[in-house]
Amino acid sequence: MSSKHPSSAQAGVIRALPEVVRNQIAAGEVIERPASIVKELMENSLDAGATHVQVDLEEGGSMLVRVIDDGVGMNGADLMMAFESHATSKLREAGDLDHISSLGFRGEALASIGSVARCAIYSRPRGDDIGLRIENEGGRIQDPVDAGGPRGTTIEIRDLFYNTPARRRFLKRPSTELSRCLEVVQRMALGHLNVGFVATHNGKRNYDIEASMDLPARIRRTFGAELSESLVPVEADDGMFKIFGYVAPPRFARRDSARQMWFLNGRMVKDKVLVRVLKEAYRGYLDPGRQPVAFLHLSMDPALVDVNVHPAKAEVRFREDRRVFAFLLNSLRSAVAQTDMATPGEGLLRKALNRDGYVHHPGQGAIHDPGYLPRPSEGRPITEIREVPGKPYVGGGSFPVYGRPASALSEGDNATVGGGHAGLGTDAVGAGLLTDGAVDTLPGPFLQIDKTYIVRALPDGFEVIDQHALHERITYEGLLREVQNGSVEVQRLLVPEVVEVSRAEKALLEEHKDALAKIGIEIEPFGETAVALQGMPSRLRHPDPMGLVRDVAEILATTGKSPTAADVIEEVLHSAACRSSVMAGDALTDDAIRSILQRGKQLENDQTCPHSRPTRVRFTLGDLERAFHRK
Ligand code: ADP
Ligand code: MG
Repeated sequence: MSSKHPSSAQAGVIRALPEVVRNQIAAGEVIERPASIVKELMENSLDAGATHVQVDLEEGGSMLVRVIDDGVGMNGADLMMAFESHATSKLREAGDLDHISSLGFRGEALASIGSVARCAIYSRPRGDDIGLRIENEGGRIQDPVDAGGPRGTTIEIRDLFYNTPARRRFLKRPSTELSRCLEVVQRMALGHLNVGFVATHNGKRNYDIEASMDLPARIRRTFGAELSESLVPVEADDGMFKIFGYVAPPRFARRDSARQMWFLNGRMVKDKVLVRVLKEAYRGYLDPGRQPVAFLHLSMDPALVDVNVHPAKAEVRFREDRRVFAFLLNSLRSAVAQTDMATPGEGLLRKALNRDGYVHHPGQGAIHDPGYLPRPSEGRPITEIREVPGKPYVGGGSFPVYGRPASALSEGDNATVGGGHAGLGTDAVGAGLLTDGAVDTLPGPFLQIDKTYIVRALPDGFEVIDQHALHERITYEGLLREVQNGSVEVQRLLVPEVVEVSRAEKALLEEHKDALAKIGIEIEPFGETAVALQGMPSRLRHPDPMGLVRDVAEILATTGKSPTAADVIEEVLHSAACRSSVMAGDALTDDAIRSILQRGKQLENDQTCPHSRPTRVRFTLGDLERAFHRK
């Protein structure tokens, strides 16, 4: 090979690139930053059967990433091969690619890393008395030398990108790189349940998971008690696929998917099908812009999935994606419905108190670790608690407990409600609090505020209910049930309501006329730019035919689907429910209030409206104590 440096202006002389350059190019695909090294090395440790993995970092990993494991180790011959590209112990022939059960298989990680950093591997296989150490500096590999040390493998990667300064400049501040590295360690720890993990940074211990900890314990250690205590388990097995894990109530949802973790046969994956199925499972409970929180382990025969789709190995392709989807949706949907949908008031109070006095700006995320983001278009955001009874319950110390002293109230109602909540400390805010529908007899009295909110005492606090949101949920569920049973009761209008629409809308409505009739919306063409509404579901009270027809036209136009599709039906029903419900502004009698609450209790979920706004916010005695600085 010529030593003359080829310039781009020269006539093309095609030559093979030196190996180290080839590896550097390959490194561009998988080694972006210290976190990618952490991931590759930890995967190797887990593939080697480690039961304990320690990750030591310096300066966010850019100075040092050291991974220590107690796995099977490598002998001299292995060590000589480890840094070669396309050298792996995990694949033998092409056919093996069809059923990969290890995390690695490309045989490129160590070669890539070796080309862009100073590396050393120490390893002592099971049964050997002495270990070996090999060094690789930017692709120059030394012969192995004897070295003492524990059984297993230690790999040290120093000075990442020391020989590729252009890439080094892309590294972020150490704190940023560190948090990405820790995120990888955490994901690994949540994905590999029989393995213990430790992470240190600049000599300080940062994260620690014992091998014996189960998934909830790991989640608790990683993300805290509030989340871990609110989780609902998921478990199912259809003979082909198996799922196990936990889903969180909708209020934990986030704008990013950092707490949505899927593990496929132990590999952390980011896959569109999986993201979509979770979205679907939370449909109706969650603002579509937010990502639910879930930790899910999926397992199946490795032959049923292709993991060789992308160098980072995070994307996968299911060979039976429809069946996977249906299986997962089935298992997830019921678990999601069982999560506690209550919106705890504690976070609202804390948020409000943190700002100057009681000023709270809704658009900023509302509840702590917010489960929903109030949308300005949905009328008054319920989180503006200073506008709710403000004075009555926070000021003046005289929250109207309906003429009874607070102590009498809590004793009396505890008696009615039974021991169901006795064990719940104030820390359990929001976690299964008080919705024991069977024994809560809704004794009242109720206080209606601004013809919009209903306040009612609870054995250990009080709740504020958005009457419109709750009624909307009730109407929606009722309609949905009727549609599912194919028994929509239709109210025929004596005088058809003529609604002006655009030509395009009219064409759409006409096209889907029959499908709309099946969900109780009976429409006939009327002139060039209007339709006549002749019947609508009788469940709708205070109907607003014009608004309903327009909503339907808009939904059809934006989804482009037929109203027989489940998601379109749901949207149409949402809008129908919304348009017909008890509006904010209706004065309600005690009986009317009791009847709404009673019907709400019979629903699977009476905690959020179909648009996933909360129907109620709860405040416990603990919240009040905190608000008044009694604690
Ligand atoms: P791959 O993991 O795709 O096989 P790598 O470049 O990551 O490729 O590793 C190359 C080989 O080095 C692996 O196949 C494995 O045999 C060996 N190896 C790497 N790390 C370890 C480790 N921590 N313990 C035992 N063997 C290891
Ligand atoms: Mg590997």
